Amino acid sequence: MRIPFLVVYSILFALPTVQAQQPQKPTASQIYHNLQDLNFLGSALYVAAHPDDENTRLISYLANDVHARTAYLSLTRGDGGQNLIGPEIRELLGVIRTQELLAARRTDGGQQLFTRANDFGYSKHPDETLAIWNKDEVLSDVVRAIRKFKPDVIINRFDHRSPGTTHGHHTSSAMLSFEAFDLVGDASKYVETANEFGIWQPKRLLFNTSWWFYGSREKFENADKSKLLSVETGNYYPALGLSNGEIASLSRSMHKSQGFGSTGSRGGETEYLEFLKGDFPTDTTNPFDGINTTWSRMKGGEAIGKILYPLAENFNFKDPAAMVPQLLRAYELLQQTEDTHWKNIKSEQLAQLILDCGGIYLEAVSETETINPKGMFKVSFEAINRSLNSVVLQKVTTVDGTPLDVSLKTLATNEGAKFEASIISKNEAPSGPYWLNKKGTLGMYNAPKHLIGLPETPAPEQVIFHLQIGRATLPISKNIVYKFNDPVDGEVYRPLQVLPEVTASIAEKVIIFADGATQDIPVTVRAGRDNISGSVQLNVPKGWSANPATQTFNLARTNETATLVFKLKPSNNQSEGYIKPLVQLGDRYFDKELVTIDYDHIPYQSVLLPSEAKVARLDIKKKGENIGYINGAGDAIPESLEQIGYTVTTVAPDKISEESLRDFDAVVIGIRAYNTVPQLEFAQTALNNYVKNGGTVLVQYNTSHRLVTKDIAPYPLSLSRDRVTDEFAKVTILEPKHPVLNFPNKIESSDFENWVQERGLYFPNEWDKAFTPILGMKDKGASTSKGSLLVAKYGEGHYIYTGLSFFRELPAGVPGAYRLFANLISIGK
Ligand SMILES: [Zn+2]
Repeated sequence: MRIPFLVVYSILFALPTVQAQQPQKPTASQIYHNLQDLNFLGSALYVAAHPDDENTRLISYLANDVHARTAYLSLTRGDGGQNLIGPEIRELLGVIRTQELLAARRTDGGQQLFTRANDFGYSKHPDETLAIWNKDEVLSDVVRAIRKFKPDVIINRFDHRSPGTTHGHHTSSAMLSFEAFDLVGDASKYVETANEFGIWQPKRLLFNTSWWFYGSREKFENADKSKLLSVETGNYYPALGLSNGEIASLSRSMHKSQGFGSTGSRGGETEYLEFLKGDFPTDTTNPFDGINTTWSRMKGGEAIGKILYPLAENFNFKDPAAMVPQLLRAYELLQQTEDTHWKNIKSEQLAQLILDCGGIYLEAVSETETINPKGMFKVSFEAINRSLNSVVLQKVTTVDGTPLDVSLKTLATNEGAKFEASIISKNEAPSGPYWLNKKGTLGMYNAPKHLIGLPETPAPEQVIFHLQIGRATLPISKNIVYKFNDPVDGEVYRPLQVLPEVTASIAEKVIIFADGATQDIPVTVRAGRDNISGSVQLNVPKGWSANPATQTFNLARTNETATLVFKLKPSNNQSEGYIKPLVQLGDRYFDKELVTIDYDHIPYQSVLLPSEAKVARLDIKKKGENIGYINGAGDAIPESLEQIGYTVTTVAPDKISEESLRDFDAVVIGIRAYNTVPQLEFAQTALNNYVKNGGTVLVQYNTSHRLVTKDIAPYPLSLSRDRVTDEFAKVTILEPKHPVLNFPNKIESSDFENWVQERGLYFPNEWDKAFTPILGMKDKGASTSKGSLLVAKYGEGHYIYTGLSFFRELPAGVPGAYRLFANLISIGK
């Protein structure tokens, strides 16, 4: 059976609550606002590349002022960014930023869509971006989004005509949207989605420009504006008690992992939209000009409008329940219409409005927070009608129509019905973010076809409450949730998760073997249900061995853990690979690790990842023992150096003196220290004298703006924004005989293989002739930079400046980067 509609994501406005999963309980004035949404039949799609690219002012304006169905299509999930609120990076950061976008949309009233494109990191040019993404697949996902969502208006955040002036992902998003606009109406293009959703031609394509794209306010003032629409986005919404700018800021402040907290503004604010394609509007203050956005847009809709427009005009704020009979009449008429697109959308909105007006509350709560695939679980139901209307709960079914053992109940005014039932899950696989279930490529996620574009995996378990209200029967779908009472926070909601019966993990994700010695590897096994016993083996790369081969465990309670230690012997020669714990229960195998993400502004997340750790046996020699480390913005270089046998001592910035540095074999300065540590302005003399007396100072990358001092080296040196973002870019050895390439390790071109994310950044572009540039490298289409690694003799010692991304390569276990780094701090020994 096909479900008539789903009330899964409420698209109704509500202020963000501390607990992101709290059910929405709109006030009478919010219900009025939602009725205005119901009475607008038009859609807008905003297109950009990352979480945070979207202009929340414009999205909130479209959703709350125009009352349009509004979605933001973010091509990526933002895995490549930085995380300011916790340790999660890469795919886990992508999970957080996905949820932050959903939280932003719950705040500004929009919806959220994605493609399969992965935010693999910075790229300078769309050519580079589209070579790493599968351009055809991303374009097909954009086409799919348009054909499915059916926007009247598409608005690009970026200019498709300016490659090279911003992040390559940004320009690519605009180029793909521009190209898709001409494909979506053609049934011979991307036939599969044409068959699934039908073809669709949006009315117009716009570009959300601003003075910034013109270079200056003055240039914008003088520019030709004949192709610009201008919309006033500073209005105040009395039903919500907020101005558009205030909502936009609350929405933007959901991007907490990026530190985009924003203070709201009040008063007028104009947004500019450059017309790119389609029909030019007669009224350039209205993006929907020339589009019928009334109920008469759908066949049979006029009669519905005749009921709903007067209802909005004379809204009963004192007793919304009194409007239920008219809403039911509109609902019945809507069910007789044939335009399935609008019928589905409006049925969902209207059903929710009927529940909200009638004070009807429905909830299905699982007894346990997690269940296993095909497992049985107990669910408590609550249904209550807080109005004088006649409401009967006819039955409760699963989504495939199977009735649960629940008898017919008349919901008398304000008398709650509570009951329980047991459900056997039909889920054969665990839940968790669908795009992480199968390994993708550097540029693309691997997603099953039916889920492409969805912001997150649909809730694994749902039930349908079949309500008879007056003469109408409404099937209301509800996600089964989990909740508990927290002594501090009160009622806390969490998504119900389907998880495996057992998971296993290795805490250290990269383990370096600097010699042939055996290391202990602790594997933590976690029970996903009560009473399990089984065994664990550790799969290792060829040439490596684990002892013992298998170990057994018994766990009595769900979430209980046991730690088993394996002795891992590395291969005899340089080698890298992955170790993977494999858990066996009876004749079944389990190979996933469970990672949970818990922040107040997003729903609790359970993520399943392949359980593994990288191991690398290095062929590495080093000189010296004691390294002094001066922290900058934060990096994991000290831990990496300790993994290869150095003793690393952190030197506090106010303790830097010739005396305190004297005994170190080398002093290494953390990333962006000259941007973030003000005391370095006064420490330079001590550092220079330490070098003069025979020491080695190695300075890692700093950004070229906002240095605490220009005096960062014993000789003149100026930083630029030059970077090489392609981690595969060919490296040319400029000084093959130089000691840093020969002692104690002989550095060869193979040492620049398997680097991750990038080569380096903020390379110097001018330097004193005392410096010797060691390496040359360049991105495609750029000119060669020789500033990535500069070495100078000063007095008896050596000063080294490098923008190479050692802070990424060493924690990722890249052997060549370790060997080169060891040479740099061994120089002069
Ligand atoms: Zn961006």
